[in-house]
Amino acid sequence: MSYSFKFDPITLPPEAQALRAEVRQFLREEIDRGTFTSGAERKSSYSPEFSRRVGARGWIGMTWPKAHGGGGRSHLERYVMIEEMLAHRAPVSGHWVADRQSGPVILKYGTEEAKRKVIPKILSGEAYFCIGLSEPNSGSDVFAASTRATKTDGGWLINGRKIWTSGAHNANWMIGLFRTSPSTSENRRHGLSQFLVDMTTPGIKVQPIRNITGHADFNEVVFDDVFVPDSHLIGEKDMAWKQATDELAYERSGPDRILETLPVLTELVRAVGAAPSDRVAEGIGREIAHLKTLRRMSVSVAGMLQAGQAPSVEAAVVKDLGTNWEQALPRKARLLLAPSDAATSANASGYAETMAFNTLIAPKLTIQGGTREVLRGIIARGLGLR
Ligand SMILES: Cc1cc2nc3c(=O)[nH]c(=O)nc-3n(C[C@H](O)[C@H](O)[C@H](O)COP(=O)(O)OP(=O)(O)OC[C@H]3O[C@@H](n4cnc5c(N)ncnc54)[C@H](O)[C@@H]3O)c2cc1C
Repeated sequence: MSYSFKFDPITLPPEAQALRAEVRQFLREEIDRGTFTSGAERKSSYSPEFSRRVGARGWIGMTWPKAHGGGGRSHLERYVMIEEMLAHRAPVSGHWVADRQSGPVILKYGTEEAKRKVIPKILSGEAYFCIGLSEPNSGSDVFAASTRATKTDGGWLINGRKIWTSGAHNANWMIGLFRTSPSTSENRRHGLSQFLVDMTTPGIKVQPIRNITGHADFNEVVFDDVFVPDSHLIGEKDMAWKQATDELAYERSGPDRILETLPVLTELVRAVGAAPSDRVAEGIGREIAHLKTLRRMSVSVAGMLQAGQAPSVEAAVVKDLGTNWEQALPRKARLLLAPSDAATSANASGYAETMAFNTLIAPKLTIQGGTREVLRGIIARGLGLR
C-alpha cells in the first residue's frame, strides 16, 4: 500500500484564540499566587492543587464527549490550551497522562464500571495515571512484554515488573500491558491485554530511578501477586495489540513533542538582549523559523484528529522532526552564546541554568514515546517502503 504525507494548513478558529487569552490570564494568576514561576529555575512539575484548578476550568478532557462529563470541545482548542501550559512551563505532570491518553483509552475500550470509577476523577484533576508498557527486556518491541496476568476468581493476578514508568510515584492508576496468553506463530503480537491497575493495591512496589539531572521522574514498578478485578480489563483479552497502538498515536501527536527545550530559546533571547549581533540574530531567527514550521505541522495533525482521521504517520513525522529539533537546540544555542560568555548579561544565571538542565535532558527526547529509529520504521511502513 502506498501512502503520502498530508499536512493541510490549518487556521485556528476564533474560539481557540479566545481560549488562548483565557488560559494566559489563568496562568498569570497562578504565577502571581506562587504556584509556579515563569523563570529559569526548575520547580517540580507536579502540583495536585494546580491540576484541580485546571480541572475546575474544564481544561482536562476538553475533547471528550459531554455524555461522559467531557468538554465536547475541538482538538484545536485543546491544542492551544496545552501550548500555553507548556510554553509557560506550568506544573501539569499530575494530570498530563490521564488527559492525553489514559482517559481516551478508557472511554473507548474500558468497562462501564471502570469509566464510572475514574473518568469523573480525571476530569476534576484528581486521578493521575502512569503508562506500564516498557519492561527490562521489552522496550521498542513492546509486544515482547512478559509480565503476566494470570486468571483467578473474579479477576487476575499480576506478577513481574515494568520499568521507566514516568510519574508512577505520584500516580493513582496505571494502564498496564500484561501477558495473558502466549503469542502465536501467526501473530507474535497476540496474547497481551491492557488492564487498569489501582496503584494502592497490595503487592505493588514503586522504586524510583534517578536520572542524569538528579531527579527521580521515572521508576521501576514491581508486581507481586497484585489482584486486578475482571472489570478492569480494558478491551478484549489477548488483543491489546489493536488498541495499544491507538494509545501511542495520542502520545505522539501533541505540542509537547516540540516544546520541551523551548526555555533554551527564551532564555537565550533574554540573555542576548535587545541588540544582538547579526550572527546571533540570524541564528535565533533560523531556530524560530524551524519551530514555526514544526508548529504548523503539529497543528495540522490536531486538525486531522478533529476531522476524525487517524494521522499516525504524520504524528510520527512530527515527533521525529520535533524531538530532533528539541534535542539539537541546546547545542545550537551554545554556538550562538556560550553560557560562560553570557556572564555580563542581565540573564546570566538563568541562561546558564537552563542550558545545563536542557543539555542533560536532550538525549532522552528521541527515546521517550518511541525511539528515532522505531519512528522512522513506522514512517517507512506508512509510506509503503517496507
Ligand atoms: C524519559 C523517559 C520516560 C519514559 N517513560 C516511560 C513510561 O512512562 N512508560 C513506559 O512504559 N516506558 C517509558 N519509557 C521507556 C521508553 O518507551 C523506552 O526506553 C523506549 O521505548 C526504548 O526502549 P528500550 O529503552 O528498551 O531500548 P531498546 O528497544 O532496547 O532500543 C535500543 C536501541 O535499539 C534501537 N532499536 C530497537 N528496535 C529497533 C528496530 N526495530 N529498528 C531499528 N532500531 C531499533 C533503538 O532505536 C535504540 O537506539 C521512558 C523512557 C524515557 C527515556
